[in-house]
Amino acid sequence: MIIFKNPTELQTHLSRLRQAGSDIGFVPTMGALHAGHTALIRHSKKENTVTVCSIFVNPTQFNDIKDFDKYPKTIEADVRLLIAEGNDILFLPEVKDVYPSGTAGLEQYPLGYLETILEGQYRPGHFQGVCQVMKRLLNHVLPKRLYMGQKDYQQCLVVKKLLDEFNGIELIAVPTVREADGLAMSSRNLRLSDTERTKAPAIFRALQEISNNIDKEPLPGLLAKVRSGLQSAGLRPDYVAVASADDLILIDDYNRQPQCIALIAAYLNEVRLIDNMLIEG
Ligand code: AMP
Repeated sequence: MIIFKNPTELQTHLSRLRQAGSDIGFVPTMGALHAGHTALIRHSKKENTVTVCSIFVNPTQFNDIKDFDKYPKTIEADVRLLIAEGNDILFLPEVKDVYPSGTAGLEQYPLGYLETILEGQYRPGHFQGVCQVMKRLLNHVLPKRLYMGQKDYQQCLVVKKLLDEFNGIELIAVPTVREADGLAMSSRNLRLSDTERTKAPAIFRALQEISNNIDKEPLPGLLAKVRSGLQSAGLRPDYVAVASADDLILIDDYNRQPQCIALIAAYLNEVRLIDNMLIEG
């Protein structure tokens, strides 16, 4: 595996590979890699000649400075895992490489409705930061295919919108990889204490409860019941919602929509976890 820290050197290398006919698959991450990330790498390796993974903890997407400061960093284990997975290139830039003019006064993206709900509502500025970093990373890598996790469903829709600015990059959304007890794998799980870890699968069970009962009882009552179940299990939900899977328009009447999605964000003490589940109509 080749490691690049400098964006210009990465660009030169990738443009040679592109000229030689290589398809480039790109997996952007913030590190502390787990089996969710490796699923993206494996998808990319199957479908492309060259896979580039980036590890960059992007300061502009953290609306909570404590969350940024405490974001897990396990770079040596990450490099070992990427080598074992046969990842071809690791892009490991520093903040000054990604934001050479600093992180103040950056461009704003017209995300409209998507930025006003769910993660957009509870993490003001988060998706602006996602777009700011993704645009820069994509400009360096110029992949043919971009791999992202369905676990961050709203992020996938935001990035899909951003891809309108690029020429034909295909976004592939990879299903969420879970622990045996249903907890969605996440780098933030490393921050959970043993007690918190035992409580965390309540989020997955809550999503199952919504999915299993959505056609049996009125949605507002079901969501309220699930929310209070999470509270009784020791979590503090930001939201428990159901939306149309296409555009995340929130719904309070199920009515057998073709496809909708249940989404939850909840705190376990200081750690904020998110998850979702697609529900076929
Ligand atoms: P992160 O390092 O958390 O920014 O995640 C990098 C990429 O991995 C994003 O596209 C995430 O959606 C994806 N990802 C994170 N956790 C999982 C998971 N459990 N299953 C599948 N993809 C994931």
